[in-house]
Amino acid sequence: LNPDKEHYSPEELDVEKKLRPLTFDDFTGQEQVLENLKIFVEAANLREEALDHTLFHGPPGLGKTTLAHILANELNAGLKITSGPVLDKPGDLAGLLTNLSERDVLFIDEIHRLSPIVEEYLYSAMEDYRIDIMIESGPNARTVQIDLEPFTLIGATTRSGLLTAPMRARFGISSRLQYYKKELLTTIIQRSAAILKMPIAMEAAIEIAGRSRGTPRIANALLRRVRDFAQIKGNGTITIEIAKFALNALNVDAFGLDEMDNKILITIIDKFKGGPVGISTLATAVGENSETIEEVYEPFLIQEGFIMRTPRGREVTHLAYQHLGKIKGDSQAE
Ligand code: ADP
Repeated sequence: LNPDKEHYSPEELDVEKKLRPLTFDDFTGQEQVLENLKIFVEAANLREEALDHTLFHGPPGLGKTTLAHILANELNAGLKITSGPVLDKPGDLAGLLTNLSERDVLFIDEIHRLSPIVEEYLYSAMEDYRIDIMIESGPNARTVQIDLEPFTLIGATTRSGLLTAPMRARFGISSRLQYYKKELLTTIIQRSAAILKMPIAMEAAIEIAGRSRGTPRIANALLRRVRDFAQIKGNGTITIEIAKFALNALNVDAFGLDEMDNKILITIIDKFKGGPVGISTLATAVGENSETIEEVYEPFLIQEGFIMRTPRGREVTHLAYQHLGKIKGDSQAE
């Protein structure tokens, strides 16, 4: 199960939409982030101003897009959605910007993937609500300045390390989303099950939550797959037995670790005697770039106690050996 929505079918995206919380009250977890956002929104509403430009960063599936929807709703404003790789020409961006009404929200997903030209173009829009556009071509070509309505840009990125400094500096609000604890995911699963009208036992929700890699999108996806088993192998209710059976049949790791998580742990154990190993050496060994490891994989592995960050590099813990059925000191490197 990949938490990246690029790999989702239209049907899955549709269900995702149905399950998306639309108000602050409906959103579970990320308390610190939410508490601040509520104040900023209330203040913006009071002053009848656009909310400051807001950046959400953190691994995929934790609620960045959801929060953009919620902010637009709570601001009583319109929302336009696009993404970094899609906006490849300044003209595309100009079209979007000039169509925004006062206080509207423009959401740009994967904002670290904007082309440098588009990014540059965005600066003046963000700063002065103004853009220059080129009209006509050839000898008659000239630029005209267009005033925009005050709007809010919400950017989302899984890779804040790849964001340029000038881009980062233009966001008044910046929040990092954290992986969700099991209890919160249990609540989210129960809410989703209720929306999808699937009866589910408490222990089953807890079991699914524990295998969801701290990620609501994965929790919802697992819930849907488990439901299939409940309907075919059971009586429609998701019991703990059905949940366990289904999750094993689906080959979901007991801790919800994905392929790359396990590869990282196995590599540290087998190739580096359990560590410590430096991040760039590790990255080369697993064939992933080091920012992705630092921003997407490692935070979860650290939170769940599989890896420790030491001054000399990353080290796996006892729990990692246990999880992988390996014995300390018993590695290829010796
Ligand atoms: P991101 O933009 O960070 O990749 P999304 O906002 O698209 O993630 O969230 C993925 C799915 O997870 C959404 O369908 C949403 O329903 C669900 N989700 C995310 N965060 C929460 C939350 N805090 N409470 C309930 N559901 C959530």
